[in-house]
Amino acid sequence: MCDYRIALAGNPNVGKSTIFNALTGLKQHTGNWTGKTVDCAEGRFFHNGRTVSVVDLPGTYSLSSFSREENVTEKALAQEHFDCVAVVLDAGVLERNLTLALQVLSRHKNAVICLNLLDEAAKKGLEIDEKALSELLGAPVVSCCAARKRGLKALQQAITDACEKEPRPNSFYRRFDRDSALLRGCCRTIAQACVRQAFPDRKTRRDRRLDRLMTSKRTGIPLMILLCSLLFWITAVGANYPSQWLSELFEALKGELVTWSERLSVPKWLSGILIDGVYTTLSWVVSVMLPPMAIFFPLFALMEDAGLLPRIAFNLDRFFARCGAHGKQSLCMMMGIGCNACGVTGCRIIENEKERLIAVLTNNFMPCNGRLPILIALILMFFAGSCGGLFASAKAALILVAVLIGCVLITLLISKLLSLWLKSDAPSGFMLELPPYRKPQIIKTLARSFLDRTLLVLGRAAVVAAPAGAVIWLCANIRIGDASLLRHMTDFLDPFGRFIGLDGVIVTAFLLGFPANETVIPIMVMAYCANGTLTDVTNYTQLHALLSANGWTMTTAVCMLLMTVMHFPCSTTCLTIKKETGSLKWTLLAMLIPTVSGVLLCTVVSHLMKII
Ligand code: GDP
Repeated sequence: MCDYRIALAGNPNVGKSTIFNALTGLKQHTGNWTGKTVDCAEGRFFHNGRTVSVVDLPGTYSLSSFSREENVTEKALAQEHFDCVAVVLDAGVLERNLTLALQVLSRHKNAVICLNLLDEAAKKGLEIDEKALSELLGAPVVSCCAARKRGLKALQQAITDACEKEPRPNSFYRRFDRDSALLRGCCRTIAQACVRQAFPDRKTRRDRRLDRLMTSKRTGIPLMILLCSLLFWITAVGANYPSQWLSELFEALKGELVTWSERLSVPKWLSGILIDGVYTTLSWVVSVMLPPMAIFFPLFALMEDAGLLPRIAFNLDRFFARCGAHGKQSLCMMMGIGCNACGVTGCRIIENEKERLIAVLTNNFMPCNGRLPILIALILMFFAGSCGGLFASAKAALILVAVLIGCVLITLLISKLLSLWLKSDAPSGFMLELPPYRKPQIIKTLARSFLDRTLLVLGRAAVVAAPAGAVIWLCANIRIGDASLLRHMTDFLDPFGRFIGLDGVIVTAFLLGFPANETVIPIMVMAYCANGTLTDVTNYTQLHALLSANGWTMTTAVCMLLMTVMHFPCSTTCLTIKKETGSLKWTLLAMLIPTVSGVLLCTVVSHLMKII
């Protein structure tokens, strides 16, 4: 039971989630760009013997809005009971932030103003008179620097004090609801009265100079490609060694497990399910997925924290606009690289219904972390020469960037086709705020993204992979007539698989990998091994040997790469699409569009490669 329930409101990107996490000890996603919080999150803190429940509302610029996440905030503030609303303001852009503060004050009698990002305001040479601000607003003002956990105790105190006080009506504020010119005028007057420019603002000037490079037509995209190549290169180089160590460790452990199971006379079928099924699949998922994810996610989080993602979205906007889609779609695509289900939910930042639907239907063309390791494995084995070595990994990184550029081009093409087909209301304008460049909190970001993202994703993959390993082992070992169940399945699908440049095993692996793409390679390995070629596959060299022994050629590798990018989304993403669109029709279409494109492209490419 809670004594009080309060809301955290504020413009996007002012540090609400950082404050929420610091108050409640929870782990809401934080990042330096507008629109990442699309749903309410609830947690609690204890202060002076009181339990206070805190609701983190999505960011909004005002309480009269159009975008979905702003609607969520508006609705929550209007319909739910809160003992107090804490409005978080960016001290560096006070005037703009005051619009929301005054609107909240007009509707909620108990409000606390939290003046955050004071360190950034100080860097811009701004000094804020908090006492004057508090007097002018008629509400307590608490100064904070959430990133450094400064001012949070005072904020807790102010919140509990406000909750305990009798609400104080202020009829003057109500006029803001009717008179927006008055509201704007008040914001300007209050800001002028409370903010002083103590010394010239060099930071904003430096940011603008950097933006001229990062977002210019000539240098923006090459810099973006360079940055992504660097990201993937570090991932490829860094992941190689731990992958090798982990696979050796798992191999040694497997030997021990086999010895022990023989010593304890464990029945063959049971040791088969547990060791060859569950253990082998799990060890593959861990040794192949963990190292690249443990490097990629933290680096990506640093880029996000520094404020680079909205710049990438800005650079891509004109291409999306030409295809009848929205620039913010590129932000959803980037979230899709982590997880397509998150990317689909993130599409709520797009206000226009048609543009949002296009973003949802095409999000799956960005490979999520379940598919990224498959791409890395294919590139290292077939396209980048021998694995290892700086040159090979640099080549692998460039190929991966080329594949991702291909994914963006396919997304643009399909978006164009969808925009011609779907009926539209007027296209929404592109209003993306370019946040200031911020020095990322390196240690915290690295630790958080490793714990919250890498381990979470790995845990989820393991939860699916373990039973999948058992089921696949059973399928590979239950015999019907003269062949295993898996063999019957792969044989049945083989003619179709070969027609599109793959084989029956690969098609089966994609179908059985529907719960999680992480299991595609372990399923393939088990199916090939069950067909009697190799027994232990724990690294790329052995995998390459296994695949080649089973008839893989360059054409198979190219088609597998295409199919990895272009096939139906995993079950979690499908459920999310159903939830977000509320329609089975769009969910089915979201499955059909990538699958049909993948099958068509694989067929054309495989036949062309045969002719050449
Ligand atoms: P929200 O969109 O309002 O929830 O904002 P977030 O909590 O995600 O924070 C946006 C960005 O601002 C993140 O990169 C945070 O690390 C950063 N941030 C939050 N508070 C502070 C602060 O007091 N000082 C600085 N320098 N950065 C902050």
